[in-house]
Amino acid sequence: MSESMPQFPPDTSQQTYLAVQAIVAGRLYLRDKRVFQDSIHLPDSSGFRAPDFCFLIAHPTKGRILFDLGIRKNGKGYPPAVEKLLGIFELECEDDVADTLKKGGIDPTTINTIIYSHLHWDHVGDPTPFTNAQMIIGADAQPLWLEAYPSNPNGRYQELPADRPITYISFDPYTSTHPIISPIGTFEKAIDLFADRTLYLVSAPGHMPGHLAALVRVAPNSFIFLAGDTCHDRQCYDPGERLISQENYMDLETARDTVTKLMRMNREMDEVIVVLAHEKERDGTMPVFPEELGTWVVNEIRKRKASRSLPTIVSTASLILTNYPLVFQERYS
Ligand SMILES: [Zn+2]
Repeated sequence: MSESMPQFPPDTSQQTYLAVQAIVAGRLYLRDKRVFQDSIHLPDSSGFRAPDFCFLIAHPTKGRILFDLGIRKNGKGYPPAVEKLLGIFELECEDDVADTLKKGGIDPTTINTIIYSHLHWDHVGDPTPFTNAQMIIGADAQPLWLEAYPSNPNGRYQELPADRPITYISFDPYTSTHPIISPIGTFEKAIDLFADRTLYLVSAPGHMPGHLAALVRVAPNSFIFLAGDTCHDRQCYDPGERLISQENYMDLETARDTVTKLMRMNREMDEVIVVLAHEKERDGTMPVFPEELGTWVVNEIRKRKASRSLPTIVSTASLILTNYPLVFQERYS
């Protein structure tokens, strides 16, 4: 028996679709040796500049959601243990996510929910302007707070403002507050956050404990997959011939397994477009806030379907030419 085709839950008859907008919340320098296994012997000077994407998602009844907050403004305000590591990243962040929203007429206090893909400094950003947001974090990240700054002056993770409610997303059926969907596409586990098939939080472990991806339904049978730091470069999942580095993934074996799932999703599922948090090929080619991504996603899906069917057309044409040369000779000679 061949493996069944991976699928997402289909649209319902009254399906809601969400508006997604990408925001570049800074840029940073990534070293090749921390991105690609084939580069671990390269010096720090070998690397590339990458964007730090976060996403604004608008739900008609659940309000505004941010997926990650990117870098803090001008790279300032991190715990001392993080600050001393930042030089190598050559951070650039004139406008943080709150600034960009304000310039676009969106008051940060109107954000209802912040979803963190994981708790690294370049994704946590500065949550202080989002005074009315509840936070959503992968449950496996919860123990990281035990050593967080400033309670622990040497902590690398920064405590969130004390008044923000935090919901921890567990993919263990015994502790999960939501029913577990399994499988979802090529991934093993997800939850339907609003129970309306609009936004799925997908377990994408390996890089950091509790690492989450988000699958968002933006148009009929059309999705965007916000993959966070599942990997740090497109070549690791598309076409996927470069392995992720042993230097930047807390559970390397699990992380490589997660990247394989992402690679299969990209290769086998026409209806989804993947975006990594640091995908440099998307920087300047993917529309950003205040533009919306829905039409772009639909067009990217259409382009990909066309490019995938092209080899079939070409091979069919060559088959005809090979088998019926006389027909063409008669007509064109
Ligand atoms: Zn990152």
